[in-house]
Amino acid sequence: MIDEETRWIVEKIYELALLGNGSAKVTKLLIAEKIPTPGYLNYKRYGTFANIYADAPEEKSWSWTIAQVKSILRDETYIGNSIHYRETNVSFKNKHRVRKDKSEWLRIEGTHEPIISQSDFDKVQGQIASRRRERKDSTTQIFTGLVKCADCGWSLSFATKKQCKTPYSYFKCSRYSSLGKAYCSGHFIRYDTLYAYVLSRLQFWSGQAHMDEEKLLKKLLNASDRETGVIRKKQESNLKRAEKRKSEVDALFTRLYENWVAGRITEYNFNMLSAKYQDEQAQLDEQFKGLKAKLNETRQTVSDAEKWMSYVKEAAYPTELTASLLNTLIEKIVVHEADRHEDSTAEQEIEIYYRFIGKID
Ligand SMILES: [Zn+2]
Repeated sequence: MIDEETRWIVEKIYELALLGNGSAKVTKLLIAEKIPTPGYLNYKRYGTFANIYADAPEEKSWSWTIAQVKSILRDETYIGNSIHYRETNVSFKNKHRVRKDKSEWLRIEGTHEPIISQSDFDKVQGQIASRRRERKDSTTQIFTGLVKCADCGWSLSFATKKQCKTPYSYFKCSRYSSLGKAYCSGHFIRYDTLYAYVLSRLQFWSGQAHMDEEKLLKKLLNASDRETGVIRKKQESNLKRAEKRKSEVDALFTRLYENWVAGRITEYNFNMLSAKYQDEQAQLDEQFKGLKAKLNETRQTVSDAEKWMSYVKEAAYPTELTASLLNTLIEKIVVHEADRHEDSTAEQEIEIYYRFIGKID
C-alpha cells in the first residue's frame, strides 16, 4: 500500500537525484527546505520514538542524514518490488545485524504499486555508480587539505574540466568559487602542473639527503632558525602583551574592590564588574598557558630537522606522489595568483611549507 501522506517526500528525493544531485547534496536540500523525516512523521502519527522527538528542538523534525537519503535512493520497494532477508542476525547471542550480500536477497518483483518508475530508478542507480567510480579513480585527492590560497588562506578546491577535447583537473580558490570575485581571485592551477612541481621538489630534497646528509641538515637548521625566529618574536610579543593586560586587570580589580568597600559603587555593580574581570583573568591565564607551550615547541628545532630529513631520505627518490608521502613531508602548499605576461606566458609562485621545518628553498 502506498503511503499517500509521505509519497511526495520519496518523489521529491528522486526528483532531486534525477537532477544530478548526489546524496549529500539532496540531504542538504531537504534540510534547507525543512522537509520532515520519516521518523518524525511516524512520531507525529503514531507517537513512536517519543523519547527522541518529544522534547527535541524543531530542527530535529527535518534532520536528514546522508545514509537515510542513500537508502531511500536504493530501495526497490519504491518500484514495486519486495526484498526479504536483507539483514541477518549473526547468532542469538550476538544481536549485531549483518547486511547480507545482494545475491542472497530474495526479490519479488511487482508485489505492489510503484511510486517511482523503473527507468527513473535505473537512472539514479547509474548516477550513484558513476559517482562512486569517479571518486575511486581520482588519484587527485592526494592533495586534500594541503593546498591553500596565498591571498585569502582558504583551501583550493579540486575540479575536473570535462567539456573539452583533453579533459584536465585543476584547483581554484574555494573562497573565489563560492563567494565570487569580490572576495578573491581564481588562483587557478592545473593538477598536473602542481603535481610535477611538488614531485620535482621532493626528488630534489631526497637527492640531497642521499648525497650529503650533513650539509642538508645544516641547511635545514638555518632555514628553520629563520622561520622560527620570526614566529618566536611574534609569540614573545604576544606573551608580553598578555602579561601587561593581566597586570592592568589586576589593578582594575583592586580599585573596584576599594570602591565597593568605600561604598562608592553598589553591590550589584560590584558583582557585575568583578565577574567581568574574573572572566578576563581566566581567559588571560588560558592564553598565557597556550603561548608558553607554543614557545617551547619552537625550541625543538634540531630534532625536527633530523626527523624531516630521515623521512625525506626514506622516500628514496620518489617517482610518484601519494597522500601518505605528501602528508608525511608537507605541511601546506601555498599557491599564488599567476602573473600573466604579454607574450602569453605566465609565472606562478608556489610555496611549499614542509612539516617540522617550514619553508626552504
Ligand atoms: Zn583566495
